[in-house]
Amino acid sequence: MQPRDLSDLSPYVPGRGAEEVARELGIDPDDLTKLSSNENPHGPSPAAIDAIRETAPTVGVYPKASHTDLGEAVADRWGVTPEQVWVTPGADGAIDYLSRAFLDPGDSVLVPEPGFSYYRMSARYHHGDVASYPLRKAEDFAQTADTVLDAYDGERMVYLTSPHNPTGAEFSREAVVELADAVAEDTLVVVDEAYGEYTDAPSSIGLLDDHDNLAVLRTFSKAYGLAGLRVGYGVVPDAWADAYARVNTPFAASEVGCRAALAALDDDDHLERTVETARWARDYLREHLDAPTWESGGNFVLAEVGDAAAVAETTKRLGVIVRDCTSFGLPDCIRVSCGTRETTPHAVEVLNDALAEVRV
Ligand SMILES: *Cc1c(COP(=O)(O)O)cnc(C)c1O
Repeated sequence: MQPRDLSDLSPYVPGRGAEEVARELGIDPDDLTKLSSNENPHGPSPAAIDAIRETAPTVGVYPKASHTDLGEAVADRWGVTPEQVWVTPGADGAIDYLSRAFLDPGDSVLVPEPGFSYYRMSARYHHGDVASYPLRKAEDFAQTADTVLDAYDGERMVYLTSPHNPTGAEFSREAVVELADAVAEDTLVVVDEAYGEYTDAPSSIGLLDDHDNLAVLRTFSKAYGLAGLRVGYGVVPDAWADAYARVNTPFAASEVGCRAALAALDDDDHLERTVETARWARDYLREHLDAPTWESGGNFVLAEVGDAAAVAETTKRLGVIVRDCTSFGLPDCIRVSCGTRETTPHAVEVLNDALAEVRV
């Protein structure tokens, strides 16, 4: 027996985990600096850790109140109704829920290239087709309304990533509005703000009142440091918010995850410290790396290094894990996540050594 034809689907290629690499190198994971998955180098808020501990004895029951509480807290934060908040297992879960709610078989989605691979994966899982709009290195990966509209051909969903992974480029608010206005009536524009906490630009959530064809994705995985718990959310217009009840996997966001996210949402100090560190590290990386880099609104910097695979392999041997962007279609670039004030300078030293070694 075999599953259905899966040849159109490709596996997600994550940044390699510290434990995996440590095992391969035969060293302690604590001796590695992992700057390959855009995680929060400070980890989760201490309040979230407390919440996780406190929740442990009650995980025998299905999450219900915690899920409601989180939806309400998020809604409160953004000035929307709780119905407009789709709590999901990671932002990846929100991508799936939107695919479920919008795609009929054969419908197409338009995604950035290079870009986050899960958009296309989710579309394919839901029997959709995929087209892409190019972000060009020669144009510093500029994200404008025209970048998208030149490629747009009536697709059912259009993904915008702002700040964009892996380049750090952003859409202006005007560009998002222009796009929402320009696309066909039945095209959904999805603004993925997985890194929204790290930019000064305002969230597109503020546009939902005036546009019923926009959805915004957010996550607790990045700035909130809860990647291991898998909690994210979509914020959607009032007009079709009730679709959630029909596409939601029952209890998909866990009790522990929802409780931790609630606590994290309340810890403004931790978030502030996280964002401040990332902004500092972003500047440090751009100033001190011996390679061309791009301005970034996220907690990472893209750098042009020549042979990215060789550079990433060399830094790994020296204990620093960075993301080789070959799988993004950028074989000459690496993406370096922002570390702490302690780890970032060390990582830059190692990277510059590796660059020198690979270039000779
Ligand atoms: C990390 C990331 C996500 C989703 O992460 P989750 O852990 O599923 O919340 C979504 N979009 C982009 C661009 C990302 O980098």
